Amino acid sequence: MASAVRPRSGILKIDLYQGGKSAIAGVANPLKLSSNENLSGPSDAAREALARAVQKLHLYPSTDHGALRAAIADVHGLDAGRIICGVGSDEIIHFLCQAYGGPRTAVIHTQHGFLMYRISALASGATPVEVPEKNRTVDVAAILAAVDDKTRLVFIANPANPTGTMLPMVSLRALADGLPANVILVLDGAYAEFAAGYDGGASLVSERDNVVMLRTFSKAYGLGGMRVGWAYAPRAIIDVLNRVRGPFNLSNVALDVAEAAMRDQAYIAQAVVDNTRGRAWLQAELVKMGIDVDESHANFVLARFADEAEARAVDAHLQSVGIIVRHVANYGLPHALRITIGDEAACRRVAYAIGQFKGLK
Ligand SMILES: *Cc1c(COP(=O)(O)O)cnc(C)c1O
Repeated sequence: MASAVRPRSGILKIDLYQGGKSAIAGVANPLKLSSNENLSGPSDAAREALARAVQKLHLYPSTDHGALRAAIADVHGLDAGRIICGVGSDEIIHFLCQAYGGPRTAVIHTQHGFLMYRISALASGATPVEVPEKNRTVDVAAILAAVDDKTRLVFIANPANPTGTMLPMVSLRALADGLPANVILVLDGAYAEFAAGYDGGASLVSERDNVVMLRTFSKAYGLGGMRVGWAYAPRAIIDVLNRVRGPFNLSNVALDVAEAAMRDQAYIAQAVVDNTRGRAWLQAELVKMGIDVDESHANFVLARFADEAEARAVDAHLQSVGIIVRHVANYGLPHALRITIGDEAACRRVAYAIGQFKGLK
């Protein structure tokens, strides 16, 4: 007999998130350029904090994340009372949808936007609304045209994943200005460190009651496995999100490691310098080979090929030489491959292999 047990409507519309592939059959140590990780991992200070944290494994962690929030506030010049930490920024996306979405509401994301926005919206019972982009870039006018009285949240990543494009501050301000006061604009700054002169939108949060900035330790900080993210938001929103947050959502190991990583800004500055150099080099190499790329502001580039067949063939060739990149068909870009910027050797290896495929090497 068919089971009468059913989830709430919307849940079965969620397609399970596919992480970046991490293995190739028969290849011992593939070069993984599929998840925008920092290939060098975290700073030594973070590694030392991890070793010390062994002493505390039997203790419950802090529930208010005071030490980590103080470190973030010091480094970024923010008010620690307006910061919340989560199990990756993914968890904070979830909190936002739980608290402000839900049945009979709409949550806006954009055409090539990060898949977690749709997943969290559906999990809350909200209707995700996809807004077209223009030349793989978030389109402010199209977002404003899509807002109606059901809209509660607008998610954009800036710089965006998987396109690497970004909106300048004037466009972000125009978007914030155009939204009704009861709609929250979420600026996901997962890649903000890599965008020259960009504060992730923190200044916009400070000026308004309905803008939230998300940040993560998963990319520049090299701590994707530790699962720590944070948000900077108006106090009233922080108060709401803390009510849906589990008191022990972050382990004391994760809290200590993230705090040490945050305080080691010299390491992040060097990671950004290295990324900027590798990104410029790889973009130029792809252009020389006749491959289309938009200027990236993140730690990856999106290489666009003639069609889906060519993208798949390049992907297969890269795997045959032990390199994993991300085919982003599920982001509405079937002809494109997203390639994380690794160290110099990694950039050279991936460019060489693509040249080989093109018959240029
Ligand atoms: C990688 C990424 C994140 C980070 O997610 P975590 O849960 O913090 O690991 C958030 N947003 C975007 C757009 C990303 O690409």
